[in-house]
Amino acid sequence: MQKEIQVKIKNKFKKKYQAGYPHLFQEALVNSKQLTREGALLNLTDEQGHFLGRGYYGKQNKGLGWVLTRDENEKIDQDFFDQKIRDAINHRHSLYQNKETTAFRVFNGEGDGIGGLTIDVYAGYYLITWYSLGIYQFKDLILQALKHAVDFEGVYEKKRFDTGGKYVEDDDFVAGERAEFPLIIKENGVNFAVYLNDGPMTGIFLDQREVRKTIRDLYAKGKTVLNTFSYTGAFSVYAALGGASKTTSVDLANRSLPKTVEQFQVNDLDDKAHEIRVMDVFNYFNYAVKKNLTFDMVILDPPSFARSKKHTFSAAKDYVGLLKDAISITSKDGVIVASTNFSGFGMDKFKRFIDKAFEESGSTYSVVETFSLPEDFKTNRQYKESDYLKVVFINKNQ
Ligand code: SAH
Repeated sequence: MQKEIQVKIKNKFKKKYQAGYPHLFQEALVNSKQLTREGALLNLTDEQGHFLGRGYYGKQNKGLGWVLTRDENEKIDQDFFDQKIRDAINHRHSLYQNKETTAFRVFNGEGDGIGGLTIDVYAGYYLITWYSLGIYQFKDLILQALKHAVDFEGVYEKKRFDTGGKYVEDDDFVAGERAEFPLIIKENGVNFAVYLNDGPMTGIFLDQREVRKTIRDLYAKGKTVLNTFSYTGAFSVYAALGGASKTTSVDLANRSLPKTVEQFQVNDLDDKAHEIRVMDVFNYFNYAVKKNLTFDMVILDPPSFARSKKHTFSAAKDYVGLLKDAISITSKDGVIVASTNFSGFGMDKFKRFIDKAFEESGSTYSVVETFSLPEDFKTNRQYKESDYLKVVFINKNQ
């Protein structure tokens, strides 16, 4: 096993790490300059040299790595990775048994004890996402651990770190058999065409599974639904399956049109009975106001940050405005589904945004229900940023 680098944590942060905080950041380390080789194992102590934990060095956004264990006797070896992956799979036991859902998160970074690593399963094919060059150094051990734990069809990977421009775009295939794309997965009995070999996104964001099901089962029937930032139209497909009278999907990416048609078709839905627009959402709001269009349900699921030709959108600064636009075209007693994956604020602040937007619009509302991450997106309680998803179903009273 490689030699560990001795890293001191400032006494000021000692309690935090003793309580299980998993994230290593520059300010907490006495000397972060000594870290040079990503993937190096770190022996973490307080300033007096008392053991606090073991971790690894890997640059991920502003972070410098993750704590892997607080047990001085635990080694970071094949057994360690075997155990972590096996525990994660046991935690998803009911999803593995569920025939209606074949795609979900199997391993969720620090929530499952290894920051910088996620693993998803798509109908027997596993997708590993590496968030730093550091965690990528453990690829062989992690792949072995996955082989020990499951019978997979195949394994693909995504590298979410700066590869210095040297990364030759391959098809992300790693092991086992190659899949045929689109790969058809199921989620709550709904079909979905996914691609594991086509850029950073697969076609579906797995963390919204319960929100989609709720829209289909409890809200969609007979309703007109506007789905903004619609990507491949997942919310629209669920709404249509739930009996929506019509869905309108709006996304500015050209690819969203054929991708949304494909999702309708793999569910034997008539895509022609629905509207799919390649358009800036903010232009669509203006258009809808001008045409006096209103909707019974408006879904808002924007990225945390986005830039289009005319607009920049940042969830922290612009969500109130987005809500006001939505309020202006939602019918009385209509429902707005407001979602954000921005980790920089929590549910309380998000609800204050909602309050402000309704107040400034001269409307009243009630919160009908809220969602956060589903159980397969396991989070670490000491690390609040990992609990990023906030979804609020809002009834517009008038
Ligand atoms: N709601 C989607 C996921 C959204 S991903 C789902 O449930 O699957 C974010 C999407 O927002 C991307 O597809 C991107 O093309 C789109 N987007 C970003 N800025 C936009 C804008 N100003 N107008 C319309 N779409 C936008």
